[in-house]
Amino acid sequence: MPAKTEKVVVSGIQPSGKLHLGNLIGALLNWVKLQDQYQCYFFIADLHALTTGYDNVKKLREDIIDVAVDLLAVGLDPEKCVIFKQSDVPEHSELHLLFSMITPLPWLERVPTYKSKIEELKGKDLGTYGFLGYPVLQAADILIYKADMVPVGEDQLPHIELTREIARRFNFFYGEVFPQPKDLLTDVPTLPGIDGRKMSKSYNNTISLSDPPDTVIKKVNQMITDPARIKREDKGHPDVCTVFSYHKVFNKPEIKKIAEECQSAARGCVECKKEFLNHLLKYLEPIHKKRAEIIKHPEKIEQVLQEGMLRAKKISGATLNEARRAMGLK
Ligand code: SF4
Repeated sequence: MPAKTEKVVVSGIQPSGKLHLGNLIGALLNWVKLQDQYQCYFFIADLHALTTGYDNVKKLREDIIDVAVDLLAVGLDPEKCVIFKQSDVPEHSELHLLFSMITPLPWLERVPTYKSKIEELKGKDLGTYGFLGYPVLQAADILIYKADMVPVGEDQLPHIELTREIARRFNFFYGEVFPQPKDLLTDVPTLPGIDGRKMSKSYNNTISLSDPPDTVIKKVNQMITDPARIKREDKGHPDVCTVFSYHKVFNKPEIKKIAEECQSAARGCVECKKEFLNHLLKYLEPIHKKRAEIIKHPEKIEQVLQEGMLRAKKISGATLNEARRAMGLK
């Protein structure tokens, strides 16, 4: 493992429901590696959760704590990285406000996730100032720590480009304050939801890290397989099968054999699911154990967030002062 450098990495995750296998594979496992290599700031993005979930905040507090528990359960270590809640560090919000003065509206309207999210959450009123402006808040989240790198998936690349554009515009108007962070593109497989669609809490098709084993079993049993395989003797097409996508992640060494057996109808879907389930339950067991241990001590969770907040404020406060001075406010 390379030695830890001074380079800063920032990333956040929304507490909009329970964290799931997609979050684990797509982001959290990478975070666990990054904490050994860089100065990492990982935050629970509760303000971002409000950009789409502003009309239902009853469970927000509970979700925030749940996310904190999951972060610790998957292996984030407060000795190695800074873990905090976004709204505990109001410097993010003030920098967001300052950036909003210089961000042209068309920059926000052209962000691809703006339209795709509206499509995904059809029926929800997202014609709000906060929702349109969430990439500006994201830019503030990143630049307030003068991040060198941001771990992202492909769909988030336009947000990082926008962050760089905002940094450049700020520096152009007021002098060099912000760096232009690079994207740390994470090449990870995308897990579909159990119904074969994109995995999303809004589709209710996820397997949560906090799901007890009997719920995991139920969900795996509901997974969509190859829809053309009606009878046991029909030959299968693993590439269109949801279960196969999961085998690719959790049962990698067996993948070739499973594909061959599926294509020749030498294996049935029931046994195939059972085999995957065994791997998944074994994989989740240490996370479940650690979770159970952590929730016994809620005061320690609060302490992690409190200490994280103090460490985050040290850096973010200094950057905000620089930005205020540059803009003539100080
Ligand atoms: S045998 Fe396995 S890979 Fe093939 S269709 Fe059934 S569940 Fe999917």
